[in-house]
Amino acid sequence: MARYTDASCRLCRREGEKLYLKGERCTTNKCSISRRAYAPGQHGQNKKKMSEYGIQLREKQKARRYYGVLESQFRKYFDMAVNKKGITGENLLQILELRLDNVVYRMGLGMSRPESRQLVRHGHFTVNGKKVNIPSYLVKVGDVIAVNEKSRSSIKIKDNSEVAAGKPSPQWIDYDADNLTCKVAALPSREDIDLPLKESLIVELYSK
Ligand code: SF4
Repeated sequence: MARYTDASCRLCRREGEKLYLKGERCTTNKCSISRRAYAPGQHGQNKKKMSEYGIQLREKQKARRYYGVLESQFRKYFDMAVNKKGITGENLLQILELRLDNVVYRMGLGMSRPESRQLVRHGHFTVNGKKVNIPSYLVKVGDVIAVNEKSRSSIKIKDNSEVAAGKPSPQWIDYDADNLTCKVAALPSREDIDLPLKESLIVELYSK
């Protein structure tokens, strides 16, 4: 399955903000954005005024990088969002939030979306009792996501669950920290998605 292989911190520096792709490191002073807050590469420190197209493009790239989605998959999500009732930009973010790797991240069992994706790939989760190792799997309202019985002793999952126990989870999921399960209680609304994205710019970009 295709995935990003670029160094994570370069992606943040390219977007000029923290995308939180490396878990704990992102909140320490080791974060590259804190030390080198300019785009990577030879011309990274040149400040140019961006065109309208450039602004829209950067917003789309930022959204893709937050969720770790490649262009072709992102475009498919956009088409799905167009065909859904409601506001296209909000539909798009809602679809991205419903990816299984993102739900695992929201549960707090992965410290970053890339780590959550890896945990899903390694078969640590079930959906409605069946093992699912596809990070892009889209969950539905009523689905129950749980840590696989065999994976409950994983040190990584134990450590992450201890950190997660002290943090609030989003309203649209009911996370049961004792049983390491979560039920999708509702579809995430725009207010539930705490990412600084201007989704209308992405819609404008794809509507050209
Ligand atoms: Fe981005 Fe985290 Fe790297 Fe900072 S440490 S640049 S937030 S991936």
